Amino acid sequence: KKIIVWFRKDLRIHDHAALFEAAQQGCIIPVFIWPSEQEFEYADSIAAKWSLHQSLISLRQNLAAKGIPLIIRKGNIQKELLQLIKETSADAVFYNRCYEPFMVQSLFEIEIQLSKSKIEVQSFHGNLLYQQFNILNKNHEPYKVFTSYWKRTMQEHVSTPYAIPKMTSTLATLPASLEIHELQLLSTNSLESRLDQHWEIGEQEAISHWTEFLEYGLNKYERYKDFPSAQATSLLSPYLVWGNISVKSIWHSIQSHEIQGPSTETFLRQLVWRDFAYDQLIHFPTMPIKPLREAYNTFPWEGSSSDFNKWKLGQTGYPLVDAGMRELLATGYMHNRVRMVVASFLVKHLLVPWTEGSKWFTQKLIDFDVANNAMGWQWTTGCGIDSAPFFRIFNPVAQGKRFDPNGDYVRQWIPELKNLPQKFIHKPWEASQEILALAHLELGKDYPFPIVEHNFARKRALQAYNLIKKA
Ligand code: FAD
Repeated sequence: KKIIVWFRKDLRIHDHAALFEAAQQGCIIPVFIWPSEQEFEYADSIAAKWSLHQSLISLRQNLAAKGIPLIIRKGNIQKELLQLIKETSADAVFYNRCYEPFMVQSLFEIEIQLSKSKIEVQSFHGNLLYQQFNILNKNHEPYKVFTSYWKRTMQEHVSTPYAIPKMTSTLATLPASLEIHELQLLSTNSLESRLDQHWEIGEQEAISHWTEFLEYGLNKYERYKDFPSAQATSLLSPYLVWGNISVKSIWHSIQSHEIQGPSTETFLRQLVWRDFAYDQLIHFPTMPIKPLREAYNTFPWEGSSSDFNKWKLGQTGYPLVDAGMRELLATGYMHNRVRMVVASFLVKHLLVPWTEGSKWFTQKLIDFDVANNAMGWQWTTGCGIDSAPFFRIFNPVAQGKRFDPNGDYVRQWIPELKNLPQKFIHKPWEASQEILALAHLELGKDYPFPIVEHNFARKRALQAYNLIKKA
């Protein structure tokens, strides 16, 4: 039997259910198709496409080492898949399930086509910890509160990861394949050379990165995870996005690790947040563009494009916000605590719609993930499931003092503030002229004054919120 293994967001050979099962049942034909819809959606997502490019290089090498070529195509998925079946006389298509709304939609049509052509189709549980359709509450509805979801998942088993299978391919003539560069995932943007300096993306890199974190980082996670300069989080997100590493393998390696403690549970909870995000996306596919709480459809957004641009460039005058936005521009990544602060600032201090911020993250994040990003923005805005209430408005100065007490993170990303004493690092506008002169800093020239005053912005946001609350 000839089986097409259709790779999408699972670009690895370890713990790959579809690859493993196909290899047991016949000869495999691994295929990656870059869909037109995704090409459109990712038009400006330089970091995410760069990471996909690297992930494909890694997958192709790993398969080649087993003597199996990866076939690469781009275009309409249905058309390309049917064409490949014809060219290879494949009998079956195996794939791991993905939940991005456009993929779910196109799959529906593809399965109808394939069943008409008598092609066997098998889908597998692959990229999440749990089989989402099984995780429902007593009323058979999706969970709305994370803690209940977490407790429920604790009763579920995370299936054992698959080993790397022995693979055979007997294709006498290979179907045409594009070279990876022909997918045109790379641009000439200078961000890419910076990404090169910060990240090594691929299956081996993901595994060694994770092994090191498990050994040396995990035990410090609970204590330091909220401090951006401590670099105490796993930085696994860029590897999870295209599936360089399997989340189930991560889960099992933690469970079998000899050191267990509070960090272990906290870390596992974060992984379950990722599942929770997909659970929401599956049940509410419009989540990336529409608020889950309908009242927010009429929220009186009034933010200006000039403020939005200053936010994008890290020029708001609030050091923690600006440091985060500059980290994003330089590396394609931002620490979770800072993501919450910058998102809250955009939505509540500047009254710019969360969907605009979400689009900017879509373009810039190396770990852009449709479910996590949508959940993060809806959570921060207050319009999502189990989200922070709107009236909880982060004070960027207080957040800075608490989570970057020495100002190390701010100094790393805003060098113009590096000589400011710790007392003023999160509120340079309170420093006297003398102190500013000693720090070689001219406010308004080297670094901006705050674009909005915190108490004014807070009051304005609450007034706007009251309008939808009444409605
Ligand atoms: P760690 O703390 O080491 O966590 C390990 C893994 O758990 C992460 O890699 C991630 O897969 C998962 N995880 C951790 N925190 C969360 C969370 N809050 N929600 C869902 N999963 C989580 N994450 C993305 O992967 N892609 C995004 O596009 C994205 N956009 C976000 C937008 C906003 C506004 C916010 C507030 C959060 C967003 N997050 C996103 C969630 C979170 O910020 C990142 O997953 C995390 O910073 C990644 O760093 P890490 O791998 O070191 O995390």
